[in-house]
Amino acid sequence: MKPVAVFAPLPGMMTCREFEDLMYAYLEHELPWYRRLFVWLHFVLCRECRAYVRRYNYSLEAGKAVFAAPEEPVPDDVPRELIAALRKARDRKATE
Ligand SMILES: [Zn+2]
Repeated sequence: MKPVAVFAPLPGMMTCREFEDLMYAYLEHELPWYRRLFVWLHFVLCRECRAYVRRYNYSLEAGKAVFAAPEEPVPDDVPRELIAALRKARDRKATE
């Protein structure tokens, strides 16, 4: 069996959009290793997504509260503006 060219079409394989979609799963270690690899690769290759992750990493807990269980009350210690921003991002996503 020839080595499969799994790694051949590397750069640009994942779009920023896909990266964004997978980012939460990645940060939560919910992805199989090969998906993590592609997410990681995009992360390494894409400066914008690195900035994106840095910006959103700290708000992951709040993000989970909003994205995972939108109908549940959000903890009081989460800044209101953050919730609003995340809700807005979610709604924008949903209508796209
Ligand atoms: Zn990107």
